[in-house]
Amino acid sequence: MFSNKKRAKTLHLRGQDLSKGEPIAPPLVTSSMFHLPGDPAGHAGYGRVDNPTWEVLEHLLSHLEDAPCVAFPSGMAAISAALFATVKAGDRVLIPSDGYYVTRVLAQEFLSGLGVEIIEKRTLDYDLDDMSSYQVVFIETPSNPGLDLCDLAGVTARVRSAGGVSIVDNTTMTPLGQRPLDLGADIVVASDTKAPGGHSDLLMGHVATRDETLFGRVVSWRKMSGAIPGPQAAWLLHRGLETLDVRFDRMCQSALEIATAFEGHKNLISIRYPGLPDDPGHLIASQQMSTFGFLITMTLKNESAAERFISGCKFLRPATSFGGVHSSAERRARWGDDVPAGYVRLSVGCEPVSALLDDILNSLSSI
Ligand SMILES: *Cc1c(COP(=O)(O)O)cnc(C)c1O
Repeated sequence: MFSNKKRAKTLHLRGQDLSKGEPIAPPLVTSSMFHLPGDPAGHAGYGRVDNPTWEVLEHLLSHLEDAPCVAFPSGMAAISAALFATVKAGDRVLIPSDGYYVTRVLAQEFLSGLGVEIIEKRTLDYDLDDMSSYQVVFIETPSNPGLDLCDLAGVTARVRSAGGVSIVDNTTMTPLGQRPLDLGADIVVASDTKAPGGHSDLLMGHVATRDETLFGRVVSWRKMSGAIPGPQAAWLLHRGLETLDVRFDRMCQSALEIATAFEGHKNLISIRYPGLPDDPGHLIASQQMSTFGFLITMTLKNESAAERFISGCKFLRPATSFGGVHSSAERRARWGDDVPAGYVRLSVGCEPVSALLDDILNSLSSI
């Protein structure tokens, strides 16, 4: 787990290495060119390859992941890099059928045409598979939006012993809530657009791996594909990461309180939150996560009940995406997810929980 000492160091990582007169907050460098007379070796050369603001960000991400990290302009850019750095023609690639849908569409549309076979399974079924017939296994736990979990240590161990590569999308938990590399994963990918940025004003992502060869391929992919982060977004994400610990802590504590208050509510058909003792994922969540996250899903009786619930909350933004300081919610069926029409994903933000809970319970009781 991520110790309190490491949490404290997150805020002093840059400061501890500064020379006299250097700024405490990192400078935002937008230059595409660098002063480079003569032999270029060992110096920043060109903005698609080097950027001092990315370097500051990657230093902090690497501290959080305890592994070398490469920053990307979005979560999908990071996922693309991880897949294109690992998959080759003839491979069988396992993708969750109930995970983030764009990952699935990317694999189906762009990998299957290159002689790669894409196999889809539900996250729950990952625990039942011996993983011996895949070269690359993509894992998402808790899955978005179903919040089903699989046993990370077990699945990644089976992938590794069969000679495959495991990639874990850790977006829903962040490195503070779950540590897939410590549980045996080869690669972690994440959308930093969500809780790490935290203010809904940037898109970013990253890849983390302790495998030197894979790391080199991901760096090369960024250089060749040109999928590079904008320096402003990288700078903003660095700022966001400095408060991730307090925001994430507040969000997860509030989510547990809200989910507990929802249990058995007459206007809810069902609710999923891994922190509830009778949630199907509770046991494995307690073993592999240090907290239960800030996402709650609930099923209301139909589309209009769900829409009335969302629009009846003053302190909920009706919006897609999650992980912001402001709580938000949406009906996932509007994007075609394989869920009931009244299925709502709620992302708990940083509002004082008593006010948020009052607001949400009022709306839920009056639909
Ligand atoms: C949002 C999300 C992504 C994609 O991230 P972007 O930053 O929008 O590209 C990938 N995986 C999961 C689980 C997500 O929630």
